[in-house]
Amino acid sequence: MEAYDVIVVGVGGMGSATVAHLARRGVLVLGLEQYDIPHDRGSSHGLSRIIRLAYFEHPAYVPLLHRAYELWWALEREVQERLLIMTGSLDIGTADSTVFGGALKAARLHHLVHEVLEPEALRRRFPGYGLQAPLLGLYQPQGGLLAAERCLVAHVNTALRHGAHIHGREALQGWESRGDGIVVRTSRGTYRAQRLVLTAGAWTHRLVTQCKGMLQPERQVMIWMQPRVPAHFQIDAFPVFNMAVEEGTFYGFPIYSIPGFKCARWHHLEQAIDDPARLDRDCHPEDEAILRAFVRRYFPDGDGPTLSMHTCLFTNTPDTHFVIDAHPDDPNVFIAGGFSGHGFKFCSVVGEILADLAQDGSTRHDISLFRATRFHQEVRA
Ligand SMILES: Cc1cc2nc3c(=O)[nH]c(=O)nc-3n(C[C@H](O)[C@H](O)[C@H](O)COP(=O)(O)OP(=O)(O)OC[C@H]3O[C@@H](n4cnc5c(N)ncnc54)[C@H](O)[C@@H]3O)c2cc1C
Repeated sequence: MEAYDVIVVGVGGMGSATVAHLARRGVLVLGLEQYDIPHDRGSSHGLSRIIRLAYFEHPAYVPLLHRAYELWWALEREVQERLLIMTGSLDIGTADSTVFGGALKAARLHHLVHEVLEPEALRRRFPGYGLQAPLLGLYQPQGGLLAAERCLVAHVNTALRHGAHIHGREALQGWESRGDGIVVRTSRGTYRAQRLVLTAGAWTHRLVTQCKGMLQPERQVMIWMQPRVPAHFQIDAFPVFNMAVEEGTFYGFPIYSIPGFKCARWHHLEQAIDDPARLDRDCHPEDEAILRAFVRRYFPDGDGPTLSMHTCLFTNTPDTHFVIDAHPDDPNVFIAGGFSGHGFKFCSVVGEILADLAQDGSTRHDISLFRATRFHQEVRA
């Protein structure tokens, strides 16, 4: 039976970063991925992910974000590839909205460079944006996009270069703790390890039954549209955005990597699912209609023909904060999940945190917001 220091299950966004951090530290690590590396059936495909500092979700994320940026830049240097493209970011909503108000609060609290832009000023500066009062935009020059699949590949290549073993098309089927370690059973064999890290994304609640109700997968849809005025949607002219409006909360990107201006709606049609393998991956007219109506109203110069659509998966927690913690019954097993549609930008630092936990059982990063027990306490209260 092959023996490892650490086995990481799921080589997606978080797992790829974790194997890279562990391998760099000289830890003997095996990464197991049930599908191809990369693939388009989880949560880390679709070419681009927003990264931003003025974090409206909770100011406690900002210190982690500073470290995430540092680690993305270090990875870029290591693989000699541009992974983080600075476009600036806009958090848009009414003055009292969580998106605008929360971003402003985080920007002030952490002394981040920012500007508040009214619709007219916003249009003069970024003509793709066709907003009306009372919407306001918080502009942050450090916002940008991450080349999602390339980030994952960069982490995997780094891990391999540092001696990690990585197996695609090999699914975890079960594990057992035995005195001095863990025995892991997969679709291809059996392995031993001292520690096990589960970064299984939307599949986590199926591997750890205690996570049922805490980690809920949800179907999402992304669209790429051909702008009527392409110049307004280029990387140097169009910051990434989050926008809370009466139709819901949406986010979007300039033209990048494939043709089209990309956008999507948070919690698209609120379709919770149990088994990610049975997700409806087709995109339907009702998926398209909701996204096109948004673009027509707020980005009239972007409202050209549809070019592409794809589905993807969120894994939501009840409070939208992550879960990064030890397994409730086994201190040698660590779980990272429930990234609630905003985790990708953190992959680099979550990989560092999980490597710390797998090596030492603790981390210097403040991850108290992410304890799994917060939900048990809620149930008991
Ligand atoms: C449409 C969309 C837009 C998003 N936009 C943003 C954004 O702009 N900014 C941002 O920061 N975040 C964003 N997110 C969220 C972010 O992409 C996710 O939080 C992140 O990708 C989650 O990574 P993960 O590693 O947990 O999941 P994944 O990357 O899906 O990795 C989990 C992996 O585990 C594997 N696996 C599962 N079970 C097993 C098993 N038994 N054996 C072996 N392997 C297994 C899966 O196949 C998968 O590859 C978005 C998500 C979606 C869906």
